[in-house]
Amino acid sequence: MTLSDPFPGLDELLESIGEGGRRVATIDAGEGAAGNISILVGWPIEVRRRFPNPEPVALPVPTPHLAGHTVIVSGSGRRLRDLGTSPAANLGAVRIAGDGLTATLWTAPNRLFERLTSEWNSHLAVHEDTVARSGTNFHAVVHAQPPHLTYLSHVPAYRDEAVFNERVMRWEPETIVQLPAGIGILPFMLPGSDDLMAANVERLRSHRIVVWSKHGVMARSDISVTRAVDRIEYAEAAARFEYMDLVAGGRAEGLTRDESRAVVEAFGVKTTLF
Ligand SMILES: [Zn+2]
Repeated sequence: MTLSDPFPGLDELLESIGEGGRRVATIDAGEGAAGNISILVGWPIEVRRRFPNPEPVALPVPTPHLAGHTVIVSGSGRRLRDLGTSPAANLGAVRIAGDGLTATLWTAPNRLFERLTSEWNSHLAVHEDTVARSGTNFHAVVHAQPPHLTYLSHVPAYRDEAVFNERVMRWEPETIVQLPAGIGILPFMLPGSDDLMAANVERLRSHRIVVWSKHGVMARSDISVTRAVDRIEYAEAAARFEYMDLVAGGRAEGLTRDESRAVVEAFGVKTTLF
């Protein structure tokens, strides 16, 4: 998937990040400064009117496929709910050089952060991997901390990906339609670590959303920030049903396998889950 001309302008892109941040906050998945958002823009955009101050910035991973591209990303300690009201103060624009190894960070005079998000390595590595594999010219990545998905990952049985999907995908017909590959599960790993970065890249090849156990989720979309946040909402809504059923003593039926299979057939969903 690639976006085509006429491409969205910088203000439109900043608005979409702001709206994504508000929606993550609306489902209680971005308490305090939790969560972060980035977008990869593969067409030329002029960022200097909003972000006039340049400085060199180190890239945590080589990004040969992102040479000449721009990544707009939230700053460390910034609140997702504030991205819409003052995007330039809370975001930076990273222009990656032609060598894919060095970059310039462009920021606004009223910038409110020292460093980029602590999960910058995971954002950048997923952008690089996706562009290398698909050639997309747009990619949105959102990290959030939805409570029900995260709670379930604290229950040992749910850290088995097959078990997690069998339990969580059974509550609403649209869950399998919207998340045909299901939800990927990673064990607990240190936030911001190289281990998390590598495992997250690998899991987001086959999935559009992955749970970081005992922490949160990362979701991606090659269409829009909205689609990436949608995936978090669908997964969190499904996890909320599962949590409700656990609390209620497991009295609900959920969709049976036959019912889920009927949905898959009716909507032509390509999935291996049912
Ligand atoms: Zn986090």
